[in-house]
Amino acid sequence: MIMKIDSTEEQVSRVIKEIAKYGLRADVSRGEFRTVIGIVGDERKVPFDHFAVMPGVKEILKIDTPYKLISKEYGRVAEGAGGLRTGIQIGDRTLGNGEPLYIAGPCAVENKKQLFRIAEEIKKAGAHVLRGGIFKPRSSVHSFQGLGGINRKSAETALRWLSEAGREFGLPVVTEVRGEEHVDLAAEYADILQIGARNMYNQDLLAKVGRKNRPILLKRHFGAGIEEFLSFAEYIAAEGNKNIILCERGIVPIGKGKEYTRYTLDLAAVPAIQKETYLPIIVDPSHGTGRRDLVYNMSCAAMAAGANGLMVEVHYNPEEAIVDGRQTITPAELSELIKACDEISRMVKSRAEIAGQGSTK
Ligand code: PEP
Ligand code: MN
Repeated sequence: MIMKIDSTEEQVSRVIKEIAKYGLRADVSRGEFRTVIGIVGDERKVPFDHFAVMPGVKEILKIDTPYKLISKEYGRVAEGAGGLRTGIQIGDRTLGNGEPLYIAGPCAVENKKQLFRIAEEIKKAGAHVLRGGIFKPRSSVHSFQGLGGINRKSAETALRWLSEAGREFGLPVVTEVRGEEHVDLAAEYADILQIGARNMYNQDLLAKVGRKNRPILLKRHFGAGIEEFLSFAEYIAAEGNKNIILCERGIVPIGKGKEYTRYTLDLAAVPAIQKETYLPIIVDPSHGTGRRDLVYNMSCAAMAAGANGLMVEVHYNPEEAIVDGRQTITPAELSELIKACDEISRMVKSRAEIAGQGSTK
């Protein structure tokens, strides 16, 4: 609902109350110029004609996608009114403003020494954010589940190391929350909360992080289409948190016989998603390939596709990493990768901007 420029505060609150009366929720963007109100909830219940004639209402715009609050269209209206700032502040960088964001670190936090050494080395290599898994979503219950899998005390200790390493080297930190019970604890220590691919469909977990005042890094499920991916991101936005970083991390590979890559990195998803939403999208070439010898080229390709950043698994001795060593690169390799990706990003920046505009429809 787009309110009139001269609509009063009283008219705005009356509209919000009316929305609630119908069992719907209001997503209010109070702009410098006007207020824009998104309606959240069962579409069948929305009495469009009734709302349209309420005092102060200029017009109602129907957005025909299952994701609305994160859509390009909603972003354009709310941002145009001055009520929504796109771009996500991560430390001293604004993700989505054209400067790529590099997230790097071990797949799993193993011990304090490992984490601090990696943090120091990725910082020198030019990374901006430190990653480290503590609640690991392992395929086998007989594998190392991350320090969070031992007990609450060791989870908290690992989270404390993560936050200390981040502070020591000037790196905001991101870690995965695998269940609702992890969210409050992780949010005390981490700057960004990650939802792993396997949990992309977990509506209750999405809603829970949507109520946290932290940017959320949402990974695409390996079997999810783009519309589904965005529809589930909307569950976070619907709780009021639009600081969502989307992450393409590969989809299930096809074909019989030996698998040459762990997943198939869907790079066309990057510009396709940028046409649909104002949210930034980064690429994870580590899980996307499963092979450290492919990470450099696929990172370059991701930047050429217009990605807003990368998340790369790094360890000073990949062979020694307890989890995902095969797809892990060294800090020296990260440094080269960042140099190349910065250059590619500068070259394709204008095209990435074009990718965000226009329509294929
Ligand atoms: C990870 O980033 O550590 C991870 C487990 O990735 P995904 O959820 O994409 O498999
Ligand atoms: Mn991993």
